[in-house]
Amino acid sequence: MDNIRVRFAPSPTGPLHIGGVRTALYNYLFAKKHNGKFILRIEDTDQNRYVEGAEAYIIESLNWFGLNLDEGPGIGGEYGPYRQSERKDIYAEYAEKLVADGNAYYAFDSAEDIAKMKEDMAANGVHSAKYNYLTRDDMTNSLTLSPEQTKKKIVDGINVTIRLKIPQDETIKIIDEVRGEVSFDSNELDDKIILKGDGMPTYHLANIVDDHLMKISHVIRGEEWLSSTAHHVLMYKFFDWTAPRFAHLPLILKPTGKGKLSKRDGAKFGFPVFPLEWEAKAENEIYSGFREFGYMPQAVINFIALLGWNPGDDTELFTLKELIQAFSINKIVKSGARFDVDKSKWFNQQYIISTPNTELAQMLKPLIVAKGIDITDDFLLKFVALMKERVTMVNDFLENGKFFFEMPKEIDEKTIRKKYKLENRDHFDQIVNGLGEIAHLTSSAAESFVKSYIADHELSFGAILPILRIGTSGTMKGPDLFEMMELIGKKEVCSRLTSSLELFTTIIEKKNA
Ligand code: GLU
Repeated sequence: MDNIRVRFAPSPTGPLHIGGVRTALYNYLFAKKHNGKFILRIEDTDQNRYVEGAEAYIIESLNWFGLNLDEGPGIGGEYGPYRQSERKDIYAEYAEKLVADGNAYYAFDSAEDIAKMKEDMAANGVHSAKYNYLTRDDMTNSLTLSPEQTKKKIVDGINVTIRLKIPQDETIKIIDEVRGEVSFDSNELDDKIILKGDGMPTYHLANIVDDHLMKISHVIRGEEWLSSTAHHVLMYKFFDWTAPRFAHLPLILKPTGKGKLSKRDGAKFGFPVFPLEWEAKAENEIYSGFREFGYMPQAVINFIALLGWNPGDDTELFTLKELIQAFSINKIVKSGARFDVDKSKWFNQQYIISTPNTELAQMLKPLIVAKGIDITDDFLLKFVALMKERVTMVNDFLENGKFFFEMPKEIDEKTIRKKYKLENRDHFDQIVNGLGEIAHLTSSAAESFVKSYIADHELSFGAILPILRIGTSGTMKGPDLFEMMELIGKKEVCSRLTSSLELFTTIIEKKNA
């Protein structure tokens, strides 16, 4: 396929939702697979819905995922500007052309006039009436007014709009790359407003004019835009332009599989639906993103790629490069794709395991610094090596491995009460002394000393090792005890064990009292 140009065209009305990320991803994969261009176009013609910071958020999210743009705001390109508000002056002439050709008309009705029309129609038994072939002849528009009256209304400038004139009794056919042929009855469509009095186009006009001018070859977008496509293909026909190919992506469903996934579900089920943290000022709410939950961007990409597409076999793990290779529009599915939180975590775990330790260390460093923890790069690398198979989320490194940095205040008292025997105290003190005497406390030196001590004194592993573990890290969970000791260091291990043994003795004495 030649000259592939696709665009991700979000409206900056809020943060990027996971569905938007998937739309961006599929566009990106398709473009890269065919040596095409991946373009960002900001569709900000609806100033009432404009949200401060949303555009920057969208761009930051795409960067986080590594979905690099070829053209877009701030990047440039031959077909800019890429923000529709900056293209405002382009659209009116196209709307006028449609009027001149009889495919659109001026309309001057107020919101009240339209509400009244709907009421009157309802009284006559026509429910959910639209501004269309049935009603347009009873409204105030250039079809019902004389040219002079129309001109005067335009000059007066009150409620001036241009509406698309949808033909009556036509079947509008769309060939969708995902769904095949989809037909719409033109009588079901409304005469949509395409240009407003202030010269701002609405989504429909701006979208198709820009897709045409930007030479977009394929429109890959969410299923919610399928019904608008009927209006779009009509406009392409009116302008005598070749329409791009369309591919409408299936819905992403709630974890239960019932209904469309919403941002509320994230809060309800405890998972993110946005890539990065988003402060919703109007709602006075802060939503944590995938990043803050501890997901790796590559894992999210892999997971999201499979929400609505599959390679045709059971392969699940794909790097971005492999996804580009494997991707094809004809493997996108029609039915909704369930957001499976556990699966998303599984992907994250796989990515953590397969990411080189140096990269993980780089990623963790800022988190560690932010906590005010001071460690060397060498320590960090060894820490990563010991913990990486024991975590699911990036944040788990610090949570599950916090004992590497300081002795936790909370310890596993239950196990201590069960396993610590006062009569072994002397042995423990000797083990601590012995560990202290080892010149270089490597894991193998610690292991051979402790194990020989246990054997020589006919003790059991079960009576000694758990106590040493909790005494060193506060918990039974963690990497190999002796590796842990080596990394924490002799001095710190001995000091932790000394105070822990005091504490354990008190716990048992209290229990026995
Ligand atoms: N601005 C629309 C949105 O916010 C774009 C739909 C399309 O890609 O045509 O999703």
